[in-house]
This record gives sequence, C-alpha cells and structure tokens, in this order.
Amino acid sequence: MKGFAMLKIGEAGWIEKEKPVAGPYDAIVAPLALAPCTSDIHTVYEGAIGERSNLILGHEAIGRIVEIGKKVKDFKPGDRVVVPAITPEWRTLPVQLGVPAQHSEGMLTGWKFSNDKDGVFAEYFHVNDADMNLALLPDGITLEQAAMMPDMMTTGFHGAEMAQVQIGADVCVIGIGPVGLMAVAGAELRGAGRIFAVGSRPNCVALAREYGATDIINYKNGDIVAQVLDATKGLGVDHVIVAGGPPQTLAQAVDMVKPGGVIGNINYFGVGDTLPIPRLGWGCGMAHKSVHGGLCPGGRGRMERMISIVRHGRVDPGKLVTHRFTGLEGVEAGLALMKDKPADVIKPVALLE
Ligand code: NDP
Ligand code: ZN
Repeated sequence: MKGFAMLKIGEAGWIEKEKPVAGPYDAIVAPLALAPCTSDIHTVYEGAIGERSNLILGHEAIGRIVEIGKKVKDFKPGDRVVVPAITPEWRTLPVQLGVPAQHSEGMLTGWKFSNDKDGVFAEYFHVNDADMNLALLPDGITLEQAAMMPDMMTTGFHGAEMAQVQIGADVCVIGIGPVGLMAVAGAELRGAGRIFAVGSRPNCVALAREYGATDIINYKNGDIVAQVLDATKGLGVDHVIVAGGPPQTLAQAVDMVKPGGVIGNINYFGVGDTLPIPRLGWGCGMAHKSVHGGLCPGGRGRMERMISIVRHGRVDPGKLVTHRFTGLEGVEAGLALMKDKPADVIKPVALLE
C-alpha cells in the first residue's frame, strides 16, 4: 500500500509498505478524511520524537473499517468511525491505575500513530483495541467536522479542562491556531465570563470571536501580560490556557494568572532543557498558582463525547477547515500548508470520499 512518510528528519515523501494486519482486538481502517497537524511538522522537521525512517505520518483520521479481529464485538467492516489520535492499550494495568494517554506503556505512550507505529496517511492503517478506541460516526455530521475530533477538539477542550475553567471566570487563551480556537470554544462551553484570545492572524481572530472570545490581544502589539493586566485593572485572569508560542508563553501565563489561578498547557515546547517559571510571578513559589500540562485524551468514550457536542449543536468544529484537498495525495499539500502556515490557513483536510 501507499503512504506518506517521514523518510528521515527534515524529509517526507511517498513510500510503499505492506498492508497492516489486525490482531484479535484490532481493526484495519481505510481513511475517509485526513487532517495534517502542526505536530506532524514537529515530528518531521524538528525531530520532536527523534530520528525515524519510513514512518508513515498522520494521527487525525476518519475512516471506514475494512477488517476486524476475531474478538472485536461492537464494530464490523463498512462502519464509518472516528479514530482518536491517542489510542491507549486499555487492557493494561498501568491504564487502570493512571492517566490512559500517559500510562499505556510509559510517558506519552498512548500516542501510537506516527510515533511508535505507522500513522494514518496511508491507504490502510491499524487501530489497536478497536472496541475501546473507535467511535461510530453518525449520519448528520460532515467528514470535515468529524476530522476535527481526533485531535483539535479533544486537545483544545482538554486545555479548558486542565485549566479548570469555572462558570463566570476570566480566561486567557494564548495561541489561537486550530488547537487554541478549540480551547476558546472549550472555555465558552464551561461557562467562562470574559475570554481573552491571544493571536494575530485576522481569520483566527475572527473565528476566536465566533467561538466565544470577548477580547483579542495581539502579541505583536507589545507584552501580552501588560495588555491583560491593563484590561483587568491589574488583577489578571483566573485561568490561562497555553496553546501556542515559544516557552516564554508559559512564563507569561504564570505572570497573568491570579494567585490561586490555574494554567492548562497543551502547547508543545520544542526547545531548551527547562521551562521558565517566573519567581516573583509565582509568588516565590507560594502563590497557589498551578500548572497542568497534558496530552490530548483519546479513546472511544472521549470521541463519543466529541460527537455528542457536534451532534447537539454546541460547537461547530468544521469552521476550522480552511483548505480542502481531494484524495490521499492531498495530505502532501495539506502538510506543506501546515509547514509554511500562510496567514489564511487554520486547518487543511484531505477528503477521500
Ligand atoms: P498554530 O501554529 O496554528 O497556532 C499557534 C498560535 O500561537 C497562533 O495563534 C499564533 O499566532 C500564536 N503565537 C505564535 N507566537 C506567539 C507568541 N509569541 N505569543 C503568543 N502567541 C503566539 O498551532 P496549532 O493550533 O496547530 O497547535 C498549537 C500547539 O499545540 C502546537 O505546539 C502543537 O504541537 C500543540 N499540540 C498539542 C497537542 C497535545 O496533545 N497537547 C495535540 C496537538 C497539537 P498567529 O495568529 O500570529 O499565528
Ligand atoms: Zn494533531
């Protein structure tokens, strides 16, 4: 079969591989919609997961099941499914005792696609523990909407969950690419009062307003901490979600959150051995400011909740899609867009049906 792969750090291209085989609990899926991600760019061009050779890329997919293992109960060939980016091994003791995305087999090991096995940018891909990881895609949800569930929705919402956004509270979302935009929508869903959104690109700013942002802060117009403090009479905000920018954004989050406030980080920090926590901003360690950082939750239950949110009209993630390509080949053009990030790109998809 054909797949679009990381050939080595800095280089991606088309390769031929054997079609994957399903174990007793697994499924083989053919993609219907695929979405390239900023994380694929970190993987190929920044060496985020180290050197890999001929590793098929991609972790955001909607697909049709073509084959199931003998022990799969709830799915059959032909079913249309949402495939989460994170697919833990649910039948392991560490999962029972810890955070599934993390403890499947060690830190970050719930993330399998395009990490420790081939990803989804291929004619077929393998899904472990199909009953626990796949969710049936109901009619009435478009492939474009659905393609935002495996990562963008669940990750952005997790930012709002980790920041513990409370009803009526003030929130700042730093970074409003597709992940940050879903964090804005997540903060709105959790009942935030005022929502600051930090970004600069006009289409992201417009969409942030649609998803619930009340105030826009442009980081190119000066220090964002000063801008947020100015707008809040020096008080700062109750919750910060970090969803973009360099490591300095974590320091800014600590500086702008109120004492007792909570920060949820979903940003990937790709440089340096340590991350900055400002001593005074953190009350010399005594300000009760907490920082949580996490990987997007995966699994069937989480995807069924994403489906419910879209099905009941709470959030329309389809608005993130700015560029559409046809066929599997479309992932190459989509990935190039994610690499170059022209101002009008929020999220590309490749549609195979
Ligand atoms: P984008 O590149 O599309 O968005 C980044 C955002 O950060 C943009 O709004 C950009 O503003 C803003 N930004 C850039 N520099 C600064 C700065 N100095 N200060 C404040 N804001 C800044 O990325 P994505 O939305 O696709 O992804 C966001 C992050 O989430 C990435 O690091 C990605 O790897 C990570 N991620 C994490 C996952 C997880 O499981 N935790 C899963 C998926 C992604 P502008 O408007 O100017 O472009
Ligand atoms: Zn992704």
